[in-house]
Amino acid sequence: MKTDNFVSSDVLLDQIFSITQGLYKEMSKPSGDAENDHNTIYRLLTDLGRTLVNADRASFWKWDKRNHSIWTTAAVGAGRITIPEGTGLVGKALAERHAIVTNDPYNHPDFNSDVDKKTGYVTKSILVMPICNCKGEFIGAYQAINKLDSEEGFDLEEDVRRLSLAAFICGIVLESDTFLDDSQHDKLTELKNRMGFYNDYTKTYEKILLDTEHIRNVSLFICDIDFFKKVNDTYGHNAGDAVLKHVADNFRRNSRICDGVYRWGGEEFIVVLPDSTAEQAAEAAERLRCCIMDSVCHFEDLDIKVTMSFGVTAIDPAVSIEDNIKAADEKLYKAKESGRNRVII
Ligand code: GH3
Ligand code: MG
Ligand code: MG
Repeated sequence: MKTDNFVSSDVLLDQIFSITQGLYKEMSKPSGDAENDHNTIYRLLTDLGRTLVNADRASFWKWDKRNHSIWTTAAVGAGRITIPEGTGLVGKALAERHAIVTNDPYNHPDFNSDVDKKTGYVTKSILVMPICNCKGEFIGAYQAINKLDSEEGFDLEEDVRRLSLAAFICGIVLESDTFLDDSQHDKLTELKNRMGFYNDYTKTYEKILLDTEHIRNVSLFICDIDFFKKVNDTYGHNAGDAVLKHVADNFRRNSRICDGVYRWGGEEFIVVLPDSTAEQAAEAAERLRCCIMDSVCHFEDLDIKVTMSFGVTAIDPAVSIEDNIKAADEKLYKAKESGRNRVII
């Protein structure tokens, strides 16, 4: 039965066009301007889905296959909600690879009423539609809650047909997000790579350096494992890989959250330290140098020890980032020349 909330085709088209216009505006912003990366796009796409099926609420869920979970940030009145994969209606729809509609959720075995209990909201109808990429792999799902224009709730055929427009666009955005993220990470150490460094530099560090209201320092050091070729030659390439992971883990654990740790290439790493002078960055480098020197990498039945050399510089915003790295690299070269296992500022 149709209710007062019925939306005419003209109004619906109008709503769709204003959302897609917002989407396009967001997408055509210079990449450095996007405050929350794709968060605004996801919010707009969620709104598009909600509008298409005339639902009271909608949320968009991403399947994190690496961590065996599904999460959303779009639910009303909550931060990020993460649930184990395979659970709830979203998990069921993803596992079964098809859309699910329930217009009697409290009697559905997979409905979790915790959010309703906490917030006092009453869920009357739910539509969950899995989203796939162009290879046909399921990568997320839409969830629409409480159909506004029909007391009978969602219609499995008609509402899924309408939602497919938003699901299609969302699948592409989600996939490009995943590709972008992968391209900026190193598979072996899971640190950000050189591309991730340049992205963070323009999005974060350069902005700090060019802030005219508050004068802030950003420093960096570049470092390199000493005689790493010998590790490969003596213990084999897999042992060398284990050492790289060991170094990366130590760097991650012993850096501040605001510091950026990058695998620059091979056995070279860069750490960027916002709000730090060159002296403070050198202290941090010295701590890491000692930490690496005193630690042991266990690989199979081997105990491997390495040392590292460091070159430190304060980033000078008046010259290019390449020239700043070159300055740090020259210090690193001096550290190598003067005996290795040391920090040169
Ligand atoms: P130095 O103290 O002067 O830095 O000597 P080094 O032996 O560390 O430097 P060199 O540049 O001669 O050798 C670096 C080695 O790192 C050679 C290369 O095969 C190895 N390497 C680079 N990337 C990887 C990797 O991903 N895994 C492994 N196992 N080895 C790598
Ligand atoms: Mg080396
Ligand atoms: Mg090297």
